[in-house]
Amino acid sequence: MTTRTTEAMILQTRDYGESDRLVSFLARTGGRLQGIAKGARRSKKRFVHAFEPGSLVEVTYRARKSLAWIEGCKLIEPHLGLRTDVERWGYAALVSEILLEMVPEAEPQDELFELVRQTFGRLTGDKDPVNVVVLFLLRFLDLAGYLPSLEACGVCGKPLSRARRWNWDLHRGTLSCPQHSPFPSEALALDLGTLMLIGRSRTVPLDRLWRLRVAQGRKMSVLRALTGWVQGYIRKDLKSLHLLDQVRSTQDP
Ligand SMILES: [Zn+2]
Repeated sequence: MTTRTTEAMILQTRDYGESDRLVSFLARTGGRLQGIAKGARRSKKRFVHAFEPGSLVEVTYRARKSLAWIEGCKLIEPHLGLRTDVERWGYAALVSEILLEMVPEAEPQDELFELVRQTFGRLTGDKDPVNVVVLFLLRFLDLAGYLPSLEACGVCGKPLSRARRWNWDLHRGTLSCPQHSPFPSEALALDLGTLMLIGRSRTVPLDRLWRLRVAQGRKMSVLRALTGWVQGYIRKDLKSLHLLDQVRSTQDP
């Protein structure tokens, strides 16, 4: 059994037994893993903030067949801004939940780790956390191979630049021009500008991704459509969406 030390993002932590904690994390060199931290609830000093969801840490673990054995965990960045703002916290929980549901276990992917690391950083500080989550989702779904080509009408082949309004049917994975959109109510209506931004979100270098800004009036509908697609794919509701609905309903009565 080899011991590894790697950067990791903490996704979820649960108490286990009398004094242990079960920790799910995304490790740069190990992928998504679950591990057990023996005695973590007793030795608070050793693990302060280190197992909080959203924390960036340096974890030392021994890989085993089922649970990894966590030997040490050093805090790098606690992303405290997430813990003082319930909306940012809700979006961080949404990102974590999607990763826990969709990323296969123990398949390291450096680009994914970097995307997640930067997403949590941006969620902590960016003035527009919704924009951050939409960009994360687009890039994540593209990296995982779930985002279809969105360059022309799936029926007639008309290129993007030839129409201003488009419909994207996420469940069928097709984009259609105004002449070939069967039931607009089932598809996400998108203007040319938003489609071009989606195209850029797949190809720009990661550190420039966050400069893209989804149009104010489109952001929530794109977020709803993407999370709706995720829920259809994993065949269950995302719990953190309920939390976010509650947060929003208290903010604008
Ligand atoms: Zn068409």
